[in-house]
Amino acid sequence: MPTLKMSDVNNHIKPGTTLITAQPFTFLLSAENRKERCDYCFKICKLSRCSGCQYVYYCSRNCQKLSWTIHKIECPNIKRVHPRIVPDAARMMARIIIKLHNGGGNERGFYTPTEYRTYYDMMSHISNIKNDMEKMKHFTSLSIVLFEFLPKDIMPHPKELLEIFGRLTINSFHILDTDMTSLGVGLYLGPSIIDHSCKPNAGVTFEGTTIIIKSLHDLPALDWSKIFVTYIDILKDTETRQDELRKSYYFNCECTRCSSPEIIEIAAVCQNKNCAIPCLPTNAYCNECGKKFSHDFKERFDIVCELSNCKLVEMAQNVSLNVCKMLLKKHEGLLHPFNLLTVRMLEMALAATIDIDHWEEAEIYASQLIPPYTYYHGEVHPVTGRMYFTWGRILSLLNKKKKALEVVAKAVEIIKLTFGENHSKMKYEVKPLLSQLISNHT
Ligand SMILES: [Zn+2]
Ligand SMILES: [Zn+2]
Ligand SMILES: [Zn+2]
Ligand SMILES: [Zn+2]
Repeated sequence: MPTLKMSDVNNHIKPGTTLITAQPFTFLLSAENRKERCDYCFKICKLSRCSGCQYVYYCSRNCQKLSWTIHKIECPNIKRVHPRIVPDAARMMARIIIKLHNGGGNERGFYTPTEYRTYYDMMSHISNIKNDMEKMKHFTSLSIVLFEFLPKDIMPHPKELLEIFGRLTINSFHILDTDMTSLGVGLYLGPSIIDHSCKPNAGVTFEGTTIIIKSLHDLPALDWSKIFVTYIDILKDTETRQDELRKSYYFNCECTRCSSPEIIEIAAVCQNKNCAIPCLPTNAYCNECGKKFSHDFKERFDIVCELSNCKLVEMAQNVSLNVCKMLLKKHEGLLHPFNLLTVRMLEMALAATIDIDHWEEAEIYASQLIPPYTYYHGEVHPVTGRMYFTWGRILSLLNKKKKALEVVAKAVEIIKLTFGENHSKMKYEVKPLLSQLISNHT
């Protein structure tokens, strides 16, 4: 796959081109992954516990050595506060404090041959945060933890501490595994230049803790003011997304999707079975075919949407497959198949069926998710590639060989562009399944 050479910045960029890769300025493996993955490289393998704090785990002496510049200050203090556990957000802030104490403020993250960002170039939005009660409450509780956790002589002034909190809140990326599940968080200097869009033209993946940002569309040149990633889950309706962006990032999204919201996100299905047009439930009839809605349609539609919204929030903690199935049944004949409530319910149902090895059902949900994923994320997108791969893997488990081969081949095509030909997802997950399916086929 093409990687952008510094000399190519003025040339046309094809989908799949690496726009930037970067090592994190600071990063943290989340506590829930602590015993499964190396604290430094995030690899899953046989781990050894740090003999100092007995808390973090490493895959090798090398990773332990590389993490020591930061961990040498953490280590005795993790031990000292034991058995109290320092929350992830406080540990990440502590790592930034230590990094800055070690001179990290001078580190440069280049995003063109000549332009770079330092830690201090990242936005902190402290004036917004000061007016945000919830954030200030969180900040205060983290400050108390930090004052207990870190040595007094490296603790910054409260104003600087608030700036650290602000920069972390606004600029951090979730570091994702090959399934696009969050493993921890990272701050990346160069990539922090990239703005948000609910219809992004660049995709973010990771190899270990290295961030990889690739173009998803054709771009006329490397112009960072026209390159966008997404900061949030874009499978939410415009109002919800804008609300989330204002609350978390303090801006009004004016992206193409927000500027002209599409009905389809919140649409009802036309009552004419032969018409696939998304309809507004407030209308009396379909604008396309003229089919009238029954008098109680809007009321039934609203009740199901409200219930679905409630259950989606509830199930963020704990998915119930029965609830998903009950609601998907209720969506039939009311919600358009691309209505985002249906899409998110299908995602939950898929995860729940995979969890209990119900492959027949999982196959149905995965196949139903492909069209809306392609519509909202685009075909060339890491999560669409991942969804094709998941579907292909399920088909292969069900021994539906011919279809599996077709679907995995499609996954290969997308994952090549979005993760990269040499990405570990390609090498250790996708290609082995493809070869297995090909050898079974011939
Ligand atoms: Zn390691
Ligand atoms: Zn330690
Ligand atoms: Zn937007
Ligand atoms: Zn219609």
